[in-house]
Amino acid sequence: MKSGRLVVIVGPMYSGKTSELLSYVEIYDLGKKKFKAFKPLIDNRYEDTYIVSHNKTKVNAIPISKPEEILKNIDGDEKAIFIDEIQFINENLKDVVITLRKNGVDVYCSGLDLTFKNNVFPTTSVLMSYADEVIKKKAVCHECGEYTGTISYKIVEDEKGEIDVGGFEKYIAVCRDCYTKLNKKKEESKKMNRLF
Ligand SMILES: [Zn+2]
Repeated sequence: MKSGRLVVIVGPMYSGKTSELLSYVEIYDLGKKKFKAFKPLIDNRYEDTYIVSHNKTKVNAIPISKPEEILKNIDGDEKAIFIDEIQFINENLKDVVITLRKNGVDVYCSGLDLTFKNNVFPTTSVLMSYADEVIKKKAVCHECGEYTGTISYKIVEDEKGEIDVGGFEKYIAVCRDCYTKLNKKKEESKKMNRLF
C-alpha cells in the first residue's frame, strides 16, 4: 500500500494555521474524498464540534481527549484526517498519526509550536520531526507591525501556568525582538512594584 503524507502546520497565534488547515480540507471536499477532522476537547473557544478559523470558516470535527480516540472514530476508508490544536493532545498522537500514514491516509495537523514562555510544545515538536512537510506560518507583529511574528505573548498577568487556552483577550503575536522588549519591560515593572 502506498503511504500517506504527514503535513504539519505550525506558528504563533493569529498566523492563519487553522485557515491553512481548512484550505486542505477544501481540496478533499471538492475532490469528493472522504475525510474526518478532530480537535482536542480542551478547546471550546467557539463551538464544540467544529474546527473554526478566526475568519469563521468551519468544518465538523470530533472532539477527543486521547489520541487513540481518533482510531476508534474512523471507518477505515478515509483519504485524509485533519487534526487542529495538536499542542493540547498528548505525545502518543505521534503513534496514531504514523499508523494512519502507514495505512495510506494523508494526515494534516496544525498547532502552536511555541508556548508564550518560548518553550516548545512537545507534541508539535515530535510531529514536525516525522512530517513530510512542515508549513511554518507567521503573524503580523502586534508591536512593530512587521510580518515577522513567531511567538505568542501573554498580555494578562495570572498564575494559570504555561498551558492556558485563550484568544485576543489574553494573547498577542509578536516578533522575537518585540518579545524580548516586552519581557524586559515586564521585568522592570515587576521590580518597580517590589520597590514600592
Ligand atoms: Zn515586532
